[in-house]
Amino acid sequence: MNFAPDTAAEAFRAEVRAFLREHLPPEMAARTLRGYHASRDDMLGWTRILHARGWSAPHWPREHGGPGWSPLQRHLFEEECALAGAPPTCASALMLVAPVIYSFGTAAQIERYLPPILRGDTWWGQGFSEPNAGSDLASLKTRAVRDGDHYIVNGQKTWTTEGHYADWLFCLVRTDTESKPQRGISFLLIDARSPGVTLRPIISIDGAHSLNEVFFDDVWVPVDQRVGDEGQGWQCAKFLLDNERAFSAEVPRNKRMLARLKALAATLAPDAAFARRIAEVEAELAALEMLTLRALAEQGNERATAWPAGSILHVLGSELQQKIGALQVQALAERGIVDYPEDAPAGTLPGPEQAPGITADFLYRRAVTIYGGSNEIQRNLIARHWLGA
Ligand SMILES: Cc1cc2nc3c(=O)[nH]c(=O)nc-3n(C[C@H](O)[C@H](O)[C@H](O)COP(=O)(O)OP(=O)(O)OC[C@H]3O[C@@H](n4cnc5c(N)ncnc54)[C@H](O)[C@@H]3O)c2cc1C
Repeated sequence: MNFAPDTAAEAFRAEVRAFLREHLPPEMAARTLRGYHASRDDMLGWTRILHARGWSAPHWPREHGGPGWSPLQRHLFEEECALAGAPPTCASALMLVAPVIYSFGTAAQIERYLPPILRGDTWWGQGFSEPNAGSDLASLKTRAVRDGDHYIVNGQKTWTTEGHYADWLFCLVRTDTESKPQRGISFLLIDARSPGVTLRPIISIDGAHSLNEVFFDDVWVPVDQRVGDEGQGWQCAKFLLDNERAFSAEVPRNKRMLARLKALAATLAPDAAFARRIAEVEAELAALEMLTLRALAEQGNERATAWPAGSILHVLGSELQQKIGALQVQALAERGIVDYPEDAPAGTLPGPEQAPGITADFLYRRAVTIYGGSNEIQRNLIARHWLGA
């Protein structure tokens, strides 16, 4: 790997920075930097701004509307967006379901679903997990029974992130109960407003509503909303989950969190022991960034398969978020237990200006070592890959 400064990469970074300075609305950035869950309006609004520049789908191939960036350019783009306070876009649409649609879907599905995602017009929720099917996803029970040119869907999904924002849900459903569990699963796109779809909020430990249970009671879904063949859902899901885990170190988010920690620490009396702990997480983050850049440099070549990069980066990146979050709360001292309501007017809350949102984010980040495949599962995958366990 070559560590020499790359002038083309720096020119690209400067272009992204200039774009962010000009186009990221400051009030949107201020809301994002506080660390509460972003609103649908901010996330889709930002997608529309990016779309106007042709940048809303950094990971898509050019033929479907992506900008044709290299993995390094995507990394730099995400880093600059995170540091500037750009809200997230709809990852479940842009990063998860869209690649499944353009890899396994029909021309008609590509034409129907991708343009609205690219423009930031539709929100998608991921309907995979069920009350008794998380790590063991293949045991899912939501049933889809064929009736002419429709499926009739019955069952329940859970933990559906931002499901209450969703126009569409992409779901794994069981279409065959006779064959091996993995073979009986299909991948359906379900209009979230179909009769028979009901959502119930799950309020998470941070007091926010971003998660949902979703119930399907005799929901009619046209067969042309199935992606891939009947029984090919597991293949689509594996492809999607590999994308979800790949390069998921969240270096940009970790950098944003570290910057906030340092800003917070600067409001405290000097404390050498605390400064050393900040230096430790900063060193960990620098190492994680190097590992991420290595994985990016290897993407697409044979060496990429030589180590389980996605699992390793997921474990390291998620645990680092929790460590930095814990230091942020520690820096708040007794203010760490204050409830900072998200909608409180600026200047009315106690503590330093960085305080609102920190404890809520710290609490929510308990989940980063669970979603997308828990860290215990990732460690199993690493052990299997390297130790043949
Ligand atoms: C905040 C959040 C957002 C989420 N968003 C979505 C979403 O949008 N859509 C969606 O479909 N799902 C979503 N999920 C669900 C997520 O994918 C599951 O929670 C996750 O896969 C774990 O499954 P589970 O909760 O059923 O736990 P379980 O699978 O029951 O696991 C319980 C515990 O046992 C451990 N464990 C299980 N099996 C093994 C094993 N073989 N070896 C060692 N340890 C094991 C796990 O690591 C975990 O600690 C979300 C979850 C969270 C917390």
